[in-house]
Amino acid sequence: MPASSPLRLDLDGDSLVANWHALRRAGGGAACGAAIKADGYGLGARQVAARLAAAGCRDFFVATWREAEALGPLPEGASLSVLHGVREADMAAARQSDARPVLNSVDQVARWRAGGGGRCDVMVDTGMNRLGLGLAEIESGLLDGLAIETVMSHLACADDPAHPLNARQLARFAEVRARVPARRYSLANSAGIFLGTDYAFDLTRPGLALYGGVPVATDAGQRQVLRPVVTLSAAILQVRTVEAGDSVGYGATWVAPAPARIAILNIGYADGVLRRLMPVLTLRHGDRRIAPIGRLSMDLMAVRIDDLALGEGDWLQLDYALPALAAAAGLSQYELLTGLGNRFDRNWI
Ligand SMILES: *Cc1c(COP(=O)(O)O)cnc(C)c1O
Repeated sequence: MPASSPLRLDLDGDSLVANWHALRRAGGGAACGAAIKADGYGLGARQVAARLAAAGCRDFFVATWREAEALGPLPEGASLSVLHGVREADMAAARQSDARPVLNSVDQVARWRAGGGGRCDVMVDTGMNRLGLGLAEIESGLLDGLAIETVMSHLACADDPAHPLNARQLARFAEVRARVPARRYSLANSAGIFLGTDYAFDLTRPGLALYGGVPVATDAGQRQVLRPVVTLSAAILQVRTVEAGDSVGYGATWVAPAPARIAILNIGYADGVLRRLMPVLTLRHGDRRIAPIGRLSMDLMAVRIDDLALGEGDWLQLDYALPALAAAAGLSQYELLTGLGNRFDRNWI
């Protein structure tokens, strides 16, 4: 038995699967994949992949070969694409792996061919100017003869349906599709799915929305179909009473205005709960809301519990409603998820 952890993520597998089905339906007839990079956005890539594969998901995406390796053997019938393609240092791992590289540059295409080729995906840049081959580069016969499974591109502004770049990228991707033969074409991430089925092509690649994040492009009705997946809780290590004028924590930044009961929780910024969340974070015990106080430590947080019947060993839940918390803290929902550290017990319910 591994040692027990005093901080916990409860991960709702039914909600994860329900979100995948909702995204699949929103994509019309397109297949729905899953971005599980960054360890499944902090939830645990293996567990996410197993659950989504059991629900029927067949197309998974990670960023690097290290991530592909950490995933272990893929669920039966599933395929894995490595979004960052192949550096020279990746070739040995890539040749041995069942995963496909997503080739992003002229050099990557040459490297993959020189290594013997084999099935691959290709990323084409249609206006984000991050990864991917340029439209001019694919004109020259660069991709001729490659065994391309999926040609993809990535939207820069899908979270803003009114942004003119969306339509421009869509039109450019339609051109790419007319010119580059492949088995499938894929453009939409989570937010892109909610731009309409024009954007779905053969395969969508949601990440954030699977995990309960709400892409801004979603309307109120769509928001309701996406369920939260992640709940954070931390154990109380100690309870103390302070007198008026006593301070709590580093820098003595919080001073008790009157006698108060304080609980010290086993969670801190090293767990991804950043200091800038402190002014906007609330915790819960049943329906009572509890405020954190003072300066957050690396491993500890102080909260004011006063008359609540709480003691050592009790657990408190952190309010981690992604869209609201991200907006209040000036962070992205992606940052709130992917920052969650490896000290949490990840408990699938
Ligand atoms: C991360 C990523 C996705 C998933 O994006 P979300 O916004 O999390 O849905 C899809 N495609 C590519 C290429 C990505 O890098």
